[in-house]
Amino acid sequence: MLPELLQSPDLFHLLHRIDIDLADQQQKAGCPFCGSTLHYSNYQRQPRGGPPLADELSIRFSLCCSNEKCRRRTLPKSTIFMGRRVYFGAAILIITTLNQNMPQEYSKNLLVQLFEVNRKTINNWLAYFREIFPKTEIWKTVRGLIGCEVENQNLPESLVKHYCEHSRSPESAILNCLGLLSTGLAAV
Ligand SMILES: [Zn+2]
Repeated sequence: MLPELLQSPDLFHLLHRIDIDLADQQQKAGCPFCGSTLHYSNYQRQPRGGPPLADELSIRFSLCCSNEKCRRRTLPKSTIFMGRRVYFGAAILIITTLNQNMPQEYSKNLLVQLFEVNRKTINNWLAYFREIFPKTEIWKTVRGLIGCEVENQNLPESLVKHYCEHSRSPESAILNCLGLLSTGLAAV
């Protein structure tokens, strides 16, 4: 079920709608550096590991300060893009989870073939979730809100599993997880 989700345009439509709201919230909040009004200066980005997105969906919302003396760029939180990584956040989450959950069925060699991602990249993602993510403020904030069955050493698989058990579909589980990873707000 999880691998098929990465080919589902519906998932990316939903994520895009969340990103519109996240960008809108940031725009209303104003420039984080000087408080001035922010203007949109979006650009196109086509992440890897999912379906090719239509132009109106492959938008990285971006905001630029209107104050001449500041002019700094602010990137709103996003559920489609995970930082500066070239793969979809959903792809990173699902590929690492498949490998952790079913290492025989979804060996790294198979994942390399299925998702056109190289081994080193998968290892980097796994290392991120093992070593860096557990120490992030986002994880520390939501850790207490989620049951203790979510073990730090099996992230992100333990988190995805938790959401799958508490969501009505794998799709809403992935939406909740990506919402959590981008905003630090736990939906369950
Ligand atoms: Zn500013």
